[in-house]
Amino acid sequence: MHEMALCEELVQAIQAEAGSQGFSRVHAVWLEVGALAAVECDAMRFNFDIITKGTLAEDARLDIMEVDGTAWCMPCATAVKLRRFGDPCPRCEGYQLRVLDGKQIKIRQLEVT
Ligand SMILES: [Zn+2]
Repeated sequence: MHEMALCEELVQAIQAEAGSQGFSRVHAVWLEVGALAAVECDAMRFNFDIITKGTLAEDARLDIMEVDGTAWCMPCATAVKLRRFGDPCPRCEGYQLRVLDGKQIKIRQLEVT
């Protein structure tokens, strides 16, 4: 399960932050997820609750902010917004697209003590 592995990476990243910034509890995590990252937000929350058990982020709230993807359409010669990976260009309905942005999964902010 893709989301399970992502949550494990997320917890490792939080633990690394805790090590460098010196906090010991995480109460909330704001996560930025690109629309093209192919992440199920519900599955992400479900796995997050399981994986954070017994860690410094146990019972932390996971807030997921979905951001639109952006791709460069070659026939249109412009950047277009994409809601999902595999969607065609919204202007010309072509598939000659190169993804520019929207595959990221990154921590925006942590609420810690
Ligand atoms: Zn196009």
